[in-house]
Amino acid sequence: MKVVVCVKQIPDPADPGALDPESKTLVRDQKLILDESDSYGVEMALQLVDTAGEGSVHLVSMAPNNEVSGLRTALAMGAESATLVSDDALKGTDALGTAKVLAAAITRSEPDLVLAATESSDGYTGTVPEMVAELLGLPSVTFAKSIAIEGGAAKVQRQTEAGYDDVECPLPALVSVTAGVVEPRYPSFKGIMAAKSKPVDEVTVGDLGIDAGSVGWAGGGQEIVSVEEAPAREAGEVIEDEGDAHERIVAFLDELKVL
Ligand SMILES: Cc1cc2nc3c(=O)[nH]c(=O)nc-3n(C[C@H](O)[C@H](O)[C@H](O)COP(=O)(O)OP(=O)(O)OC[C@H]3O[C@@H](n4cnc5c(N)ncnc54)[C@H](O)[C@@H]3O)c2cc1C
Repeated sequence: MKVVVCVKQIPDPADPGALDPESKTLVRDQKLILDESDSYGVEMALQLVDTAGEGSVHLVSMAPNNEVSGLRTALAMGAESATLVSDDALKGTDALGTAKVLAAAITRSEPDLVLAATESSDGYTGTVPEMVAELLGLPSVTFAKSIAIEGGAAKVQRQTEAGYDDVECPLPALVSVTAGVVEPRYPSFKGIMAAKSKPVDEVTVGDLGIDAGSVGWAGGGQEIVSVEEAPAREAGEVIEDEGDAHERIVAFLDELKVL
């Protein structure tokens, strides 16, 4: 069984850097790390291959500056190989452009299953996996809290507000997993050393047969007009009970139109 995991490499949340004043986007010149959200997909893929008793885990990432640090972390966890798409033409690529690039890179591996996180930790539009599935014509199952592969089908417990739904779909399929779905393993020293020589295929937009004008700033369907600081949280109102606290709370909630 071949599982491809989409892994995003992101600025370290402990040191997210600055915004470029001109493009109003995050400066991504620094070392990028494996998005913690994607460590769950990597772990889930490794466990599924272990359970199947055969197969491999391949990673796909789109990142600037030929960045592989986050990929090496996932390779150290146990993935076998990776494809990195890095190209100056990708600067300014929006979520749909990212999905086009990932879909083209994934196709080359002919996977049985594609895993992604429900949403990334930096952009968190939570839209890329579903768009990749649509572009590849694959069934898309979202919010997976557990996955089992049986008889050529994926059996997924899909997290809902009330509990979970049992969903089944034929393979190949794309499943996005929630954080906490499994406990990601720490890379061992042996794994870290082995990861250094695992193959990472670095490709450009042209290698994938994608028209550079359909991605990047040129192909983006969105424009960042301005960026504002988030307003500081205001102090709340303390209601002391003088016999009428319940009425004042109800009036307050009524004013907020939550009743
Ligand atoms: C204005 C702007 C400028 C950008 N500039 C660049 C740039 O210069 N270079 C560049 O590489 N990207 C660039 N991007 C792309 C951006 O970083 C995101 O990859 C993309 O918009 C996906 O959005 P998201 O993080 O909200 O995805 P979500 O839908 O929240 O992600 C869900 C899951 O999809 C998968 N996924 C998403 N993105 C990737 C990825 N890149 N690689 C692998 N898996 C992924 C992961 O599993 C992720 O957890 C830019 C985006 C914008 C809007």
